[in-house]
Amino acid sequence: MDKLIFKVSEILQSQIGNSEVYSFDVPLELENIEKSGNITGKVEIMRIEDGLNVIARDIEMTSNSKCTKCLKDFHPKVKVKFAERQFMIEKPLKVEDENDLYLINKKNYTIDATEMVRQEIILHFSIISVCSTGCKGLCPYCGKNKNLAKCTCSELDEADFEENKPLMALKEFFNKK
Ligand SMILES: [Zn+2]
Ligand SMILES: [Zn+2]
Repeated sequence: MDKLIFKVSEILQSQIGNSEVYSFDVPLELENIEKSGNITGKVEIMRIEDGLNVIARDIEMTSNSKCTKCLKDFHPKVKVKFAERQFMIEKPLKVEDENDLYLINKKNYTIDATEMVRQEIILHFSIISVCSTGCKGLCPYCGKNKNLAKCTCSELDEADFEENKPLMALKEFFNKK
């Protein structure tokens, strides 16, 4: 399945306020997003006056990322608790933003929630850039991953070195005399 498509012919024929809930677990491919595994979640489709109100809940996706501090590959979970869009039967006369317009496909009475889910995942995606809040990153001197091993050139050594610099200079000065 490369799209998140739901049949809506029945719900469209039902009364306003009626709703149906679908769970999904699909290997959805999303443009510009690297992921591992399926995207899961729930979709609640409710009949409203001019179409359908679509609520997506608990969308989860595991992404493939690289930690910006230690450069390790890691797989943060992207979670979207709640997202809502309206899918219209007819295109409204006035459209403020074409990108925010969702229409019911009247050829086969389906809706495609792919774009909605993609937008929400991107919105929640960028905030995760480090493998953990406690990531120590790479040592700026030797390049070792400080999460895995301590290196001898710790920042403390460097601080000591900086502190002793004036003393060493003074020592050198006297040694020359
Ligand atoms: Zn890291
Ligand atoms: Zn080091």
